[in-house]
Amino acid sequence: MTLRIYFSAPAADWPEYGPHLTSAFAEAGIAAELSPELGDPAKVDYIVYAPNPDLTDFTPFTRCKAVLSLWAGVERIVTDPTLTQPLCRMVDPGMTESMVEYVTGHVLRHHLGMDTHILGKDGVWRHDSKPPLARERPVAMLGLGQLGQACAASLRALRFPVLGWSRTAKDIAGVECHAGESGLRAVLSRAQIAVLLMPLTEGTRDLMNADRLALMPKGAVIVNPGRGPLIDDAALLAALDSGQIGHATLDVFRTEPLPPDHRFWSHPRVTVTPHIAADTKAVTATRVIAENIRRAEAAEPLLHLVDRQRGY
Ligand code: NDP
Repeated sequence: MTLRIYFSAPAADWPEYGPHLTSAFAEAGIAAELSPELGDPAKVDYIVYAPNPDLTDFTPFTRCKAVLSLWAGVERIVTDPTLTQPLCRMVDPGMTESMVEYVTGHVLRHHLGMDTHILGKDGVWRHDSKPPLARERPVAMLGLGQLGQACAASLRALRFPVLGWSRTAKDIAGVECHAGESGLRAVLSRAQIAVLLMPLTEGTRDLMNADRLALMPKGAVIVNPGRGPLIDDAALLAALDSGQIGHATLDVFRTEPLPPDHRFWSHPRVTVTPHIAADTKAVTATRVIAENIRRAEAAEPLLHLVDRQRGY
């Protein structure tokens, strides 16, 4: 039987994903009619999805067996009341590798104080700017899921003490794991660098508020490749102005693209990267999509199924 698969994503994604999806379906032995054109929604078997203003009502997709997100974060769709089909988020090995590189690179930049030497070529011999060893620089990993655990492992390999925090208690070799409000306070009060890798839910919105930023050692660094609203922007700007937070490297924002007049662009203690920490990689991600369709057709459990109550 030929399955009808609707590619519902911004038009610019089709040339990148179309050929890789076709190959991935062929490799998985899936006979598929894949199209970015909707046709009759009642005949669609699966939706490959990325946030897209054209798709706001899932009700007409009466035969659809699953919505397969190309994005890891599903906050824009998870609360949609018209979405009654199972929703799977993206866990892509290529994306994970990319996030590990981004986080490790930015943590090392701050740890080694690279800006001092890259920007400060002013004839001053700053011999006193030697960094401590990584083993002396505790790093908080807020979120210990697919990405947080991979980044924690990379930082551990460099000997940073990693203080992890997640919603449920964890036991991860080499990571001091915490959960709950008291756990968060314990982690933040020791971490010189905090990496935010949580989904955006009602439980994580504005997590880094004035109170929690104030818990961190003076001059601590925030690296946020999670989601913009995990941080209270006004509280962060105030903490940066006072020097409580020494620097923030931000990849994600409440409004994207970040408006040109936003203070983050001009603030000397903020680095803006344009949501490039970890793109979905078509070559690897399309195989995950194909595997999930194979599983659904074989009545096997879906991978990376989103818990709609939990929100991620
Ligand atoms: P996972 O779902 O695998 O992990 C999420 C982690 O966050 C889990 O450890 C979870 O805890 C924890 N968490 C969730 N809610 C809370 C809470 N209320 N309090 C404490 N911890 C909480 O997600 P991923 O690791 O795959 O991705 C994380 C996020 O990264 C994505 O949701 C997305 O927003 C962002 N992202 C950004 C990209 C970029 O390019 N900038 C690219 C890809 C993803 P528990 O383990 O107990 O469930």
